[in-house]
Amino acid sequence: MKDKIQKVIVIGSGPAGLTAAIYAARANLNPLVFEGSQPGGQLTITTDVENYPGFPEGVMGPEMMDLFRKQAQRFDAETHFLTVDEVDFSERPFKIVVENDTYLAESVIISTGASAQLLGLESEKKLMGYGVSACATCDGFFFKDKKVLIVGGGDSAMEEATFLTKFASSVSIVHRRDEFRASKIMQDRALNNPKIDVIWNSSIVEMLGDPKDKGLTGVILKNTVSGETSELLCDGVFIAIGHTPNSQLFKDKLDLDDKGYILTGAKNTKTSVPGVFASGDIQDTVYRQAITAAGSGCMAALDAEHFLENNPLK
Ligand code: NAP
Repeated sequence: MKDKIQKVIVIGSGPAGLTAAIYAARANLNPLVFEGSQPGGQLTITTDVENYPGFPEGVMGPEMMDLFRKQAQRFDAETHFLTVDEVDFSERPFKIVVENDTYLAESVIISTGASAQLLGLESEKKLMGYGVSACATCDGFFFKDKKVLIVGGGDSAMEEATFLTKFASSVSIVHRRDEFRASKIMQDRALNNPKIDVIWNSSIVEMLGDPKDKGLTGVILKNTVSGETSELLCDGVFIAIGHTPNSQLFKDKLDLDDKGYILTGAKNTKTSVPGVFASGDIQDTVYRQAITAAGSGCMAALDAEHFLENNPLK
């Protein structure tokens, strides 16, 4: 057990966690940040980020997260490439267990994010950011006049397919069944769009291309009914098969919704345990953008600062 009781421990290191760290550090709270298994979060698996204000020429996702981290460190945030194994929020100081050490904290900010579900193909991993994306809002712009596929049959797939028609020359929705689970209104919007067609009863079993050359050039499709395979040329594949919040650590410790997202106040980052705050995609099922995550990270640090002022540890 560590002797020192930290004012704030931040768990997670995407835009939300590192912005919380910047604000907490500038409030002289010397935050300790456990960055987790994917330091920098989801942005580290994207390439160009062109929609984050302040970077008129765009910036690479991993580079942007390095800048966030450096900014936090400049104000004495202590960041560690370590993953939290367990938390105990039953009393203050809270206990955070990391590799056999127990850290104590007066307040905790959780920014562990969500992970886009992927198909799990080796070729998908290799081409992620090189024609393969899990975020149409982030990457759609790079596919002007290109042929793209979108995988999924839910509201996200419909919404993203419709959004992609602003850029792409054609959008094919690849779905593993013969009907969508998306709401009727979202389906109709997509199906009535002349740029969108549907490839029913099909799964992508292989993505083709070389990240060092042109990136993605096509896919191998498998018909889920007949088992037949075929090759389809395309420039982009967007995966829209859902997200999973990274909240396993907090099950039974905080109130979560039925999908596992941490529940927070309507206009604040308070969780069901006073002194524990949540920011970024772990509590956001709607916006899921770097800029909104950063904004809520700022809110969490301000909420924590306010909480510490009013609830000094006896
Ligand atoms: P979702 O509703 O869970 O749909 C996921 C889709 O991906 C399903 O069609 C599923 O196919 C397919 N899928 C899952 N795993 C797959 C795999 N390994 N290979 C191929 N396909 C796979 O997820 P979502 O669309 O992200 O929506 C999540 C929630 O957010 C929903 O409640 C949705 O209504 C909501 N949402 C709302 C809006 C809006 O109203 N504007 C926009 C986006 C999302 P099967 O159907 O065969 O299972």
